[in-house]
Amino acid sequence: MTTSTSRRRKAWNQGKTGTGRAAADSPVIERCTVEGCGTEATGRAPAKGMVKVRVPGSTEPACWYCPGRCRAIGQALAELRSISRSPQGKAR
Ligand SMILES: [Zn+2]
Repeated sequence: MTTSTSRRRKAWNQGKTGTGRAAADSPVIERCTVEGCGTEATGRAPAKGMVKVRVPGSTEPACWYCPGRCRAIGQALAELRSISRSPQGKAR
């Protein structure tokens, strides 16, 4: 798992590894205003049709998102957090 992750990271970052830029944490898209979208999935879905997004290896917990665009954004966000943070969650 770790090996494939770092190989993928290299490909994505043109061979450079190391600490991610702080800017990677800044939101690049507007937050969805739908009630419950992006909230941590600890229980039932906050709204009908919401989908749970959980990326293995990510520091981001499972979250509820609207299907479609929000789900894709949530997944991308969780994947980013699995790249830029250590498994121990030392970084911010
Ligand atoms: Zn949404």
